Amino acid sequence: MTNQSIPAFTIFGPPGCGKGTQAAVIKERLEYLHVSTGDIFRAALAKGDPAALQAKELMERGELVPDETIRDMLVGQLKAILEESSGAKGLILDGFPRTLGQAGMLEDILKQLNLRFTGCVSLKVDEEELVQRLIKRAEIEKRPDDTEEVIRERMRVYQEKTQPLENYFAEKNQLIEVEGLGTIDEVYGRLAPIINRW
Ligand code: ADP
Repeated sequence: MTNQSIPAFTIFGPPGCGKGTQAAVIKERLEYLHVSTGDIFRAALAKGDPAALQAKELMERGELVPDETIRDMLVGQLKAILEESSGAKGLILDGFPRTLGQAGMLEDILKQLNLRFTGCVSLKVDEEELVQRLIKRAEIEKRPDDTEEVIRERMRVYQEKTQPLENYFAEKNQLIEVEGLGTIDEVYGRLAPIINRW
């Protein structure tokens, strides 16, 4: 089975913007594969992967893991997931790229895997709304990087390292901005017609 025509897009936005939630809904309803670098990293940590263990402290402080570490984990996971799934309609990259360095790696990764890049969907959400969501999620999920202090640091890192990607993709005409405020179904209702055009 060839993946030649599988469209791949990246979903991006600040911590708590709902990209993971929307990715799960798109996976379910549109038969897309969903690959989250945050999930891949947490799974690698749980398995005791040496590269993940080395970067553990960074993640716990709200910092980013080195580009090469994330890239290697992502490529490994993408290969495995594409091999075992035939008939997927497309691929959602959730959490990658997160730096300009990673954006530079994207083309090469997709080429290796015969995926067709369709764009970067940016979910726009008001910052106060984000903090409220993250505090709520922290109570439910108890992630080690969901304390208030670390949430603030992740926001800062997002502004500094990830936000510039909006310009990067806009200059390539690959940025699609979507209002992220509203119920899960409302946001999905804005995303689905865009994805269905691919
Ligand atoms: P968020 O809730 O901010 O979307 P994720 O679950 O995507 O968080 O990621 C959690 C943590 O995993 C990040 O703060 C970072 O330390 C690490 N991580 C995930 N994806 C990347 C990436 N592409 N580059 C570097 N670090 C990453």
